[in-house]
Amino acid sequence: MALLYTPAEECFDRITRLASRVMRTPVAVLSIMGHDRAWFKSRVGLQVNEVALDDPLITDVMATHGSFVVQDALATPRYARSGLVVNAPFARYFAGTAVRAPDGSRIGALSVLDTEPRSGVGEDLPSLRDLVSVAEGELHRRQLTFAQGDMIRELGEARRRSMVDPLTRVWNRSGLDAIIQREVDAARARRTPLSVAMVDLDHFKDVNDRYGHGVGDIVLTEVARRLRVAARPLDSVARFGGEEFLVVLPDCSEQDAVAVAERLRARVGESPVSVGSSSRVAVTCSIGVATLQDDEHPSVLLTRADIALYDAKGDGRDRVVTAAPSVRERAR
Ligand code: GH3
Ligand code: MG
Ligand code: MG
Repeated sequence: MALLYTPAEECFDRITRLASRVMRTPVAVLSIMGHDRAWFKSRVGLQVNEVALDDPLITDVMATHGSFVVQDALATPRYARSGLVVNAPFARYFAGTAVRAPDGSRIGALSVLDTEPRSGVGEDLPSLRDLVSVAEGELHRRQLTFAQGDMIRELGEARRRSMVDPLTRVWNRSGLDAIIQREVDAARARRTPLSVAMVDLDHFKDVNDRYGHGVGDIVLTEVARRLRVAARPLDSVARFGGEEFLVVLPDCSEQDAVAVAERLRARVGESPVSVGSSSRVAVTCSIGVATLQDDEHPSVLLTRADIALYDAKGDGRDRVVTAAPSVRERAR
């Protein structure tokens, strides 16, 4: 289903956020079964991205028919040795429901975890089952409409494993290289325009200096999410470097690319990012846009976008600048 080792998607993140809120647990995960591990397609409240498939909690939740509940993992030797109990997030309470593909086969589970044990009989489990139905609906809809599906299938699971950035959960540099090559080939074959938007956070060093690296990481993750949400369904978002992202815009002329980039810029700076319960960090970004020229090597396209970005910084930041033909000469 082109789900394993793929970037985060808002439709699933929404469900884990809701699960955590409704079940009043700090952690919620949507896990997908791989060959030897359960990979977290979406997670809130933990940094871990996967766990071994033979982990006892995972084995049992994947095998369940109704809902699977462990009130206190430390009270059962089998669960006390789970990686999710021994290591972060140090689960005591665990509840989960299997998630099925449109053809009825079990492909994963929606689970919530708490660091405290619970004694109730699970009055809120029906809510978890409702959320699983919503997730299954999304899977079905996604199968019909997911724009990046072909590309993801083409890359293959083994290659994809190393292509998602573990912090921001968008494509990493190596994923980006594969995507750019594919999109350039497609644009040339179909004679459609291809553009890219190079996004760099403004004065991000100040955020780290003032609030610490941990807060910086939270801001980066939220910015990646805002870019994903603001991009068009066929666009790909990648982390290009530290606090720099690249959005690949297929079938997009320079004029359209500027409009998309303006939307990305507006979305990133729309509201301060909440970190913890009290702090809010304001953030803006600068964007350089470039559109693929005939016979242009993909690396030159990226260099031109980078030069336009540099000009956006020089012009005062928090703006979109397009790579001009003269910039093209500078890129050579
Ligand atoms: P400018 O507006 O000119 O882009 O200023 P800037 O401070 O954003 O630019 P600069 O390139 O000098 O700083 C980038 C900063 O991003 C420095 C580095 O510490 C930070 N950074 C890079 N990667 C990460 C990361 O993964 N996490 C965190 N928290 N910070 C990062
Ligand atoms: Mg910067
Ligand atoms: Mg930078």
